[in-house]
Amino acid sequence: MLPRLKSLNVLASGTDLLVSLDPKVRVRLADPDGSVLALLRLLQDGSRTPDELAAQVGSDVRPVLDHLDRLGWLEDASARSPFDAHDTERYFSNLAFFDAFTTLSLPRDEPQERLRASHVLVLGAGGLGSAVLMNLAGLGVGALTVVDQDLVELRNFARQFTYTEASLGQPKADRVADWLRAFDPSLRVASERRRVESTEDVAELIRATKPDLVVSAIDEPDEVDRWVNAACVAAGVPFVRGGLAYTQGLYWSVDPGRSACRECLERHRERLAGGVDAEIVDVPRVLRQDRVNRAIGPVAGVLGGLVAMEALRYLTGLGEPVAAGRYQLLDFAGDCSTSSDAWPADPDCPVCATALVPA
Ligand SMILES: [Zn+2]
Repeated sequence: MLPRLKSLNVLASGTDLLVSLDPKVRVRLADPDGSVLALLRLLQDGSRTPDELAAQVGSDVRPVLDHLDRLGWLEDASARSPFDAHDTERYFSNLAFFDAFTTLSLPRDEPQERLRASHVLVLGAGGLGSAVLMNLAGLGVGALTVVDQDLVELRNFARQFTYTEASLGQPKADRVADWLRAFDPSLRVASERRRVESTEDVAELIRATKPDLVVSAIDEPDEVDRWVNAACVAAGVPFVRGGLAYTQGLYWSVDPGRSACRECLERHRERLAGGVDAEIVDVPRVLRQDRVNRAIGPVAGVLGGLVAMEALRYLTGLGEPVAAGRYQLLDFAGDCSTSSDAWPADPDCPVCATALVPA
């Protein structure tokens, strides 16, 4: 092992050192004789084993190294990367981000390897779906399956950047697959032009493609969330859903057998409904409401990024999912402030009862 110090901001304040990796966290270390700074300097190039470090500073450094590792300041410079020079360069920024989570025993290549080994099924390649796909491709998710029924239309271009006017009238599923293959020829991309019309449709797609995660970026018909939920929970496949309600962006996810599911929410609507919502539970709609999709490019981009971020948590295990059984909301008409609203798991939920909990 060759412990190497990550990039830290180290300041001297009298006989103390003020050290931060994350600017939000500052650690004060007493260093009256300068030995701590000397050790940090020796750790900077990651060329010395713990024994060599001990020989240089004249004392056992292992307890100090353990402490620095718990602070998240160290990585192992001797960890062998599974990636060749091309992939290391391609994923340069991902690896730098994962550096924030790594320790001496968790190399930063590991999350990237998990992403490369992952397969995500994306339902819908419209505004949100195409933004999620672009992000998943950038993260290096190894295999992507896209399902969409629509053709490229001129009105799509305000928010769907994987298409061009040359693709007008052509299936989005195929054109977005072209975009993905051109973006990264090493990705395994499959596309299917079809409509999702039942729980069984989603279950069949899951059986056929065996994804690690599903992203649902379709919002019609109204029942689609319940179909995706029922199929994913029964198959033990987590899913992330994003969408826009008027000008409020939202995303949520379901971790089968671990978080509340969508059906739990349906079963609790009455109990959860407060204020203006309490009046409308179980009251029929009497005037047709036309569906208006108000998503513009920045909205699709931000939501697509947040959905991909939640996917990243599921696929790599770096941090717990933040939207499992919980609405995450963004106010796009205002200052983009965020709020969060969890719903409870229903112990009698018939869908949760089918949950296949992944090992
Ligand atoms: Zn449930």
